[in-house]
Amino acid sequence: MDQASIDALRAAPVAAFGHWINGASVPASDGQAMEVQSPIDGTVLTTVARGTRADMDAAIAAARATFEDGRWASQAPAARKKVLMRWADLIDAHALELAVLGVRDNGTEISMALKAEPGSAANTIRYYAEALDKVYGEVAPTAGDVLGLIHKEPVGVVGAIIPWNFPLMIGAWKLGPALAMGNSVVVKPAETASLSLLRMVELAYEAGLPPGVLNAVTGEGAIVGEAMGLSIDVDVLVFTGSGTTGRRLLDYAARSNMKRVYLELGGKSPNIVFADTPDLDNAAKVTAAGIFRNAGQVCVAGSRLLVEASIHDDFVSAVARHAEAMRVGDPLSLDTAIGAVNSAPQLQQNLDFVATARAEGGQVVTGGKQVRKETGGFYMAPTIVTGVAPGATLAQREVFGPVLAVTPFDAEGEAVRLANGTIYGLAGAVWTSNLSRAHRMVRAVRTGVMHVNTYGGADGTVPLGGVGQSGNGSDKSLHALEKYINLKTAWIKL
Ligand code: NAD
Repeated sequence: MDQASIDALRAAPVAAFGHWINGASVPASDGQAMEVQSPIDGTVLTTVARGTRADMDAAIAAARATFEDGRWASQAPAARKKVLMRWADLIDAHALELAVLGVRDNGTEISMALKAEPGSAANTIRYYAEALDKVYGEVAPTAGDVLGLIHKEPVGVVGAIIPWNFPLMIGAWKLGPALAMGNSVVVKPAETASLSLLRMVELAYEAGLPPGVLNAVTGEGAIVGEAMGLSIDVDVLVFTGSGTTGRRLLDYAARSNMKRVYLELGGKSPNIVFADTPDLDNAAKVTAAGIFRNAGQVCVAGSRLLVEASIHDDFVSAVARHAEAMRVGDPLSLDTAIGAVNSAPQLQQNLDFVATARAEGGQVVTGGKQVRKETGGFYMAPTIVTGVAPGATLAQREVFGPVLAVTPFDAEGEAVRLANGTIYGLAGAVWTSNLSRAHRMVRAVRTGVMHVNTYGGADGTVPLGGVGQSGNGSDKSLHALEKYINLKTAWIKL
């Protein structure tokens, strides 16, 4: 991928996008559209349909009808596999186009988007396509006069609600296994990052997915998202986003058909550095990348640095040095390390968190301010705050921005208590050269994924899911398939 190819795509006009319902791109039923503002420079890129409740109902009805008529669910697994493999290939073939479109919409730096978005989405879809004809039912160990069979059936209609930080990667984590298991799907992308996902849905139809099996409805969460949550025709709801919305989805399920709800929520992940870390400068560099890439808008970001007191000052200086070397710049430039914050309100929220941290006694070592204002876009300098007390707002609440909270500790037990002292449990890391301590920490920290002597990079072969108020259920790996199947018992008297 070279800069010239990116620059050729960056200026291309973007046509208005409709929903995808029943295999066709359609406008909102009342004709309303929402402007799409680019966080790169604040300009209006295009419009997407502003969905109505009737639009969501139509998409769910299409999904339900296609599930009932078996046009996808009843196909031979090999046939479904072929379509999904073709879809993955098309995503790869259109990788640059998808990545640039996504970056113009959500502001992620292109170097990260190229890796994390189309490439990862294609790999995920391929992974579940390859898996789908290896999922067997079971024969139960019964007495001789009966036969107990356990069938694994698709759940029916899956509703997927996606956030704005990685629409393709996270979208594929849901759509890949859901479609592989024979379900029909309705997906609702985030208001501020719909475009690349809509284009990826279009490619699914190009790959031969039967009309109506995968539908996409854009619009406001409080309208179309709520309509999906309250629908009695959605069997399973899969969600990635904030805890506030996750709570609402549980309420919608309770008030409608008690659909299963799987939530991938936020985190305040502890990155724990002991003085015996093998290469402290590398640890500092990875620590900076682990919180500042994509302007901190990463669910597993290591947003709390817990550092052994004896190395606190030197280590914080090293992280600050690496942070300051990360160029905040044009998201479509290949040498930019940190792109734009997704929206003006998100930027303001980040700055408000820094102001609160200062008021609560934190010291801003670097950053703490908006930059590149002259572009009209939304940018923030990577920010490190030291002296963050364990109970302070910055130690307890997810910012979802480029802000690192630093707290020192003296002993292993204290590090564990600090690490576990929030409502979250999504990710974390321990840095040490002591193998026993590494294993002890992996066991002791309550979290879905624990890194050792690294941060991030876990691939699709391992699950990602939270504990506590970071969610339930997992994306990625074969374990994700469990969300998209029902177990049915056949008990047969012989
Ligand atoms: P959000 O909850 O505001 O929005 C997520 C989605 O929910 C959007 O599509 C939005 O339109 C929809 N939504 C909003 N209100 C709704 C409602 N009332 N009913 C139904 N749907 C509604 O979250 P966000 O700001 O887009 O994303 C950031 C959050 O996502 C952070 O908390 C981050 O940690 C989390 N996240 C988690 C993971 C993970 O794997 N655990 C991954 C990425 C992001």
